[in-house]
Amino acid sequence: MQPDRIRNAVRELLAAIGEDPDRPELAQTPDKVAEAYAAFFRGIGQDPVASLGETFPAESDEAVILKDIELVSICEHHLLPFTGHAHIAYLPSDRVAGLGRLANVVEILAARPQLQENLTAQIADAIEQGLDANGVLVVIEARHQCVASRGARQPEVNTITVASRGRYQDVTYRQEVMSLLSLRN
Ligand code: ZN
Repeated sequence: MQPDRIRNAVRELLAAIGEDPDRPELAQTPDKVAEAYAAFFRGIGQDPVASLGETFPAESDEAVILKDIELVSICEHHLLPFTGHAHIAYLPSDRVAGLGRLANVVEILAARPQLQENLTAQIADAIEQGLDANGVLVVIEARHQCVASRGARQPEVNTITVASRGRYQDVTYRQEVMSLLSLRN
């Protein structure tokens, strides 16, 4: 991350929209945007599989389900936030991960310029790979600022994306999780 380049780019952006970047009220803006971007994009270059950390022997091969993981990401088309929740289910083979570590995978992959569809798939792939899971299902529900505040201006639209791997590609396995999550299949 290069904060100086972000600050310069913000000044350039302000000038390009017809603002005066030297207007006193805007004096702190380049700094604040650079700080915000450092937080939004801290996941760039981090390895989501490694972020699963230490794994433990599985004592059961039944589903592990995490519901309502907080999600904040930035859409790569407009660089505006989309926010909502991720739900993860997986069927362990031999290993399980710490529950907080699964939320880490979401956080790292969300902290990059993203498309919700790709983010959903990348989370599923990281868990499938990292745990050699028999099945992985990831569902993301999110509201996009770019849909709420421009173009279609639909603040209430909730976008739902699904990625299934292994056994969860079979609708009967998937249905059980969807009903536990109270989501439509
Ligand atoms: Zn967008």
